[in-house]
Amino acid sequence: MNSKYIILLGPPGAGKGTQAKILNGRFQMAHVASGDLFRENIAKQTALGTLAKSFMDKGELVPDDVTVQMVMERIAQPDCAQGVVFDGFPRTEAQAHALDRALAGARKKIGAVLWVNVHDHVLVARLSARWICPTDGAVYNLETNPPQVAGKCDKDGSALTQRDDDKPGAVRRRLEVFQAQTKPLLEYYRRANLVHEIQGEQAIERVQADIVRIVEAL
Ligand code: ADP
Ligand code: ADP
Repeated sequence: MNSKYIILLGPPGAGKGTQAKILNGRFQMAHVASGDLFRENIAKQTALGTLAKSFMDKGELVPDDVTVQMVMERIAQPDCAQGVVFDGFPRTEAQAHALDRALAGARKKIGAVLWVNVHDHVLVARLSARWICPTDGAVYNLETNPPQVAGKCDKDGSALTQRDDDKPGAVRRRLEVFQAQTKPLLEYYRRANLVHEIQGEQAIERVQADIVRIVEAL
């Protein structure tokens, strides 16, 4: 069977969540976003949530062992059996190895790694203008993707909020962490011939069209 397991690899603000939600609506692919899973744990005040928050607030990565365990539990769920779009995971080589092992154990493999490339100054501008719906996770941008009614979610009318880690200090650190710990994954996946580069500074619809073309060919 032609299952679709893809990774959106890119810095904070590249548009991974925006594109993953579109793919999830269009293909039989579950959206697995490690950041969203951590934020759900924070909202429910679990022990994992408390631990994760202490790293997220500083813009640091949550340790590999807890991150891997959380994502492995998520991909064992039935909605992940036909395909997954990974958003924000893996972020380290150890996580990439763990994912390869888990998929191999289930006789599956990554079909493509989409490297969403965006310059740092654009990322900083996007993140400072990012607003999210706390109810359904919809992502907006005051400059590039505003809601129809200011401050309210288009789908359910909830008051939009900003993420704590979209403040300037944490954003700067997240971009450094991406360069140091996550960007090396590009080489890892290039060696496996899986990388497709996507120009992430195009309009959302153009980025989507480029990604859909690759996903449809899998
Ligand atoms: P990531 O999940 O990679 O951190 P998001 O999908 O949350 O990125 O997008 C970051 C911000 O940029 C959001 O405010 C989103 O609305 C906006 N955005 C996403 N894609 C684009 C795009 N192609 N052009 C302009 N703004 C975008
Ligand atoms: P963005 O798409 O804007 O980078 P995410 O929602 O993916 O943000 O991640 C927010 C924060 O959650 C990260 O800065 C990090 O602290 C934590 N996090 C998310 N995914 C991972 C991961 N795979 N490994 C370690 N920490 C993670």
